Amino acid sequence: MPVAVKRPKIVQDILGRVEALGDDPYQFLRDWKARNDRKIIACLPMHFPLEMIHATGMLPVEMWPSNERITIAHSYVHVFYCGLSRSIVDDALQGKLEFLDGMYFYDQCMQARGLPFVIERNTPIPNIEFHHLPPIISNPDVVKPHLKWNLEKIRKSLERISGKALSDDAISQSIKIYNKNRKLLQRLYRTRKKNPGLLRAREIARIVQASALMLKEEHNELLEQLLPELEKLPVVPDNRVKIFIVGHFCHPPRFDVMDMIEDEGMVVVDDDIYNGARYFALSVNEDVNPIDGLADKFLDRSLPCPTRIDNEVNWGQYVKDKFHACGAQGVINLLAKYCPPHQERYVDIKRELARNNIPELLIELEHEAVSLEGLKTRLQALREQIEMGVK
Ligand code: SF4
Repeated sequence: MPVAVKRPKIVQDILGRVEALGDDPYQFLRDWKARNDRKIIACLPMHFPLEMIHATGMLPVEMWPSNERITIAHSYVHVFYCGLSRSIVDDALQGKLEFLDGMYFYDQCMQARGLPFVIERNTPIPNIEFHHLPPIISNPDVVKPHLKWNLEKIRKSLERISGKALSDDAISQSIKIYNKNRKLLQRLYRTRKKNPGLLRAREIARIVQASALMLKEEHNELLEQLLPELEKLPVVPDNRVKIFIVGHFCHPPRFDVMDMIEDEGMVVVDDDIYNGARYFALSVNEDVNPIDGLADKFLDRSLPCPTRIDNEVNWGQYVKDKFHACGAQGVINLLAKYCPPHQERYVDIKRELARNNIPELLIELEHEAVSLEGLKTRLQALREQIEMGVK
């Protein structure tokens, strides 16, 4: 275990704030709306151009799963939908999302395609929108004009909801604010790589999760207070087994599982999860027209994603390279149960890691339950395998 380091009060306070926010985004967002008198628009995570919503003055937030069991949604969506899909529908049907002024969906997977229709027909939430963002990007030159056409349709729908014209200049300003957030989060990850014992994996994921729920200017301010304090702290000697976490698209990981990994004598040195490094991996080019910049980011093939299919990409190779770059000793794959895009591509990763004798553990996570006792034993086995150098 790492030697404990005393963290200043300001660090503790910020970590407490993001933990509370992630635990109850509903209250946080209702309070924010009452304080600021601005509209809030929820979007399906990952690839929606949030900068465009931000540029209207409305607050874009990325949809999250609740901490509670699914109830009424099981009468409307199949039990073999992923936890995030079922939880979004459940929250909407239970009336927990009625503070929203709109919800944006796009075709990131088969399950996501069906959600807006259930919500629109069964709740009073206004402005339920579905837009096409191409799920196959193998040929970006062909796809880009269609994508830009769809981004213009998004512009029109946002103008209708906000009641304001949405100019290119306003979008460019928002892109700058979002890029700044990405740079600050990259700095947080560099600090973690140098000093992995400083923050728990859960704390890092909570900071990133807060970015998906807060106004970016406010999150930038929070990071500008936090980072100098973290960077001043001494490097914590840490002899735990170093782990690289991958997977878990769309929504935050199960925090109890993150804790368990680190409580079992391992430390997360880097990740490739959505509420992690994937969230800020790509910036938007500020030197081109903003619609071109947003389209180019969407079509950027350097960040493989199984919901934006690119037949040229070898996802296994990508994960292997990232694993080597962060100096980890093993990989943990977090797979949301009933997520077909991830299940389909996981085999590439498994094959490549096995071929290179890289220790790997797959943890399939359900919204409702995972036997943590059984998981504990599997985590211990992974740690022992790495410590003993078993290939
Ligand atoms: S977790 Fe998978 S199945 Fe669920 S919304 Fe995301 S991509 Fe679709």
